[in-house]
Amino acid sequence: MHVFVLTGAGISAESGIDTFREPNGSGLWSRFDPMKLATPEAFQQRPAEVQAFYNWRRQRLIETRPNPAHLALARFGQELHEVGGRLTLVTQNIDDLHERAGSSDVLHMHGELLKARCLVCQGVSECRGEISPHSRCVACGQIGALRPHVVWFGETPLFLDLIAEWLPTADLFVAIGTSGAVYPAAGFVAEAHRHGVKTCEINLDPADNASLFDQSIYGLASHCVPAWCERTLASLKAPPSG
Ligand code: NAD
Ligand code: ZN
Repeated sequence: MHVFVLTGAGISAESGIDTFREPNGSGLWSRFDPMKLATPEAFQQRPAEVQAFYNWRRQRLIETRPNPAHLALARFGQELHEVGGRLTLVTQNIDDLHERAGSSDVLHMHGELLKARCLVCQGVSECRGEISPHSRCVACGQIGALRPHVVWFGETPLFLDLIAEWLPTADLFVAIGTSGAVYPAAGFVAEAHRHGVKTCEINLDPADNASLFDQSIYGLASHCVPAWCERTLASLKAPPSG
């Protein structure tokens, strides 16, 4: 069985990472204007302000921990592999909580907060501290050319070629903690349907594209994801009936 999981900000919410859109207006993009902080134009016009925003988010990320949903998905991947299955884990999150929980080969389609990219050589390097105008690229030595390795509005998400190749080969597509508001990720469920892949949503509130899913599970990720992983593995391990 090939399970293709897409995660969004909701899976990291209980670790203390802000989601983007909350019904009560407390989401990150309600408090901060993404057009002023998360676009290539903003970075060109106000680099110090944009770097400060990502330096702040990087520092907060380092202080968090994976929650039971990240841990359950990591175990699920290992156990699925042991019974001959495969997990593809794609995340819109720029945090590293899936990796810290033990997942490997995570496709970060919106980049990674703990990495920096050099505008001169395009080299990507680990980055746990602040990026400043004095930061030096470890690959080419250039000073002042580093930016956060995140995908900003107006830029193309990463790994779209692999996603387009692997999604149609899945038996099941599961979207966890994502509002289904931003494309191309919001279009994965329709793409899965086109290829006869079963679909399931695990979310706190129905996503914008909720009606497209075959199955919906609503509740906290820390509760629903471990329970779903357990049920799915149990059904795979159960002896055939009849
Ligand atoms: P999101 O904040 O849009 O959605 C979070 C989802 O997680 C919601 O469906 C919410 O119900 C759910 N959730 C919250 N807490 C949860 C919990 N404890 N357990 C389970 N589910 C929980 O985040 P997203 O879908 O990952 O966003 C994807 C991308 O879209 C992001 O990169 C973001 O920048 C972008 N975005 C932009 C805007 C905008 O205003 N421009 C708005 C939303 C998202
Ligand atoms: Zn460089």
